Amino acid sequence: MTGQPLIDAYGRIATDLRVSLTDRCNLRCSYCMPEEGLAWLAREEILTDDEVVRLVSIAITRLGVNEVRFTGGEPLLRRGLVDIVAATHAVDPAVELSLTTNALGLARTASALAAAGLDRVNVSLDTIDRATFEQITRRDRLDDVVAGLAAAAEAGLGPVKVNAVLLRGVNERGAPDLLAWCLERGYQLRFIEQMPLDPQHGWDRDGMVTADETLALLEQHVRLTPASEPRGSAPAELFTVDGGPGTVGIIASVTRPFCGDCDRVRLTAEGQVRTCLFARQESDLRHALRAGASDEEIARRWVIAMRGKAAGHGIDDPTFLQPDRPMSAIGG
Ligand code: SAM
Repeated sequence: MTGQPLIDAYGRIATDLRVSLTDRCNLRCSYCMPEEGLAWLAREEILTDDEVVRLVSIAITRLGVNEVRFTGGEPLLRRGLVDIVAATHAVDPAVELSLTTNALGLARTASALAAAGLDRVNVSLDTIDRATFEQITRRDRLDDVVAGLAAAAEAGLGPVKVNAVLLRGVNERGAPDLLAWCLERGYQLRFIEQMPLDPQHGWDRDGMVTADETLALLEQHVRLTPASEPRGSAPAELFTVDGGPGTVGIIASVTRPFCGDCDRVRLTAEGQVRTCLFARQESDLRHALRAGASDEEIARRWVIAMRGKAAGHGIDDPTFLQPDRPMSAIGG
């Protein structure tokens, strides 16, 4: 690293960069996007492949980023994805590269992504019940997700992680089945508490299935023991299932926030730095990039942006305001 680390006013250092490659998605998960979709970003607002690679490369070589996760929207919809992965891998092969995806189409691209240097995938799957899947996502595509997961494992994109959001009265009773299904296939399942990031502003605390409720639901079927490995900055609390080796993770973003250990920073598809999912301010790098700023100048702006990172997401604060951007436009 030739520059400064991305240190915030509380001494946290961001080394994990989440890069959104598009705000578009081919599913319409009820808690994430309305059925008709959203007003998508215009093409000229979105960073080109070269611009994405340049910013990511600055983050790696000058700012100490050592982990890059591509997300969206749905990153597999980005035509240049394999090339972006390959170019990022070429910057520094030691940097860990991962993808957060709904896995639609992953069966076709998993091996090319692995060959390009992708290390692993996180696949979002909230249920293995076909009707419930269609109810949540408004699409009958469960088979594609299942095929995508298998292809990812086959291509060596592991450990394959599965992320699930539980919705009261919709899929929470299916949580034990989803866990059993993942354990059988060697996928690491993590349940994530639903956060106030939906464009419909439909989230409410009482409606959310909490981490404690999820654990209680699972414990009706399996024995859970807190895993001994240290959690570090990882958001998931890990539990071994029935004595192991299988595990399940719980990401209690709302009820047990882990902001004090946060090492993440985000870049939106149109080149805005966000220091937190819930940030209400962004720092524009695209403008500087397109105006001809040097790598050094862009790195300097990024370092300054980090100083504004809040101590915590503040969901419990009476003054909390949901960010203007929904999750799909931030990059989850
Ligand atoms: N399309 C990709 C996918 O499905 O993984 C990447 C983007 S998606 C926004 C990333 C993750 O955010 C998914 O696992 C999704 O379930 C989760 N998500 C979306 N809205 C959420 C919310 N309000 N609270 C918690 N997780 C949410």
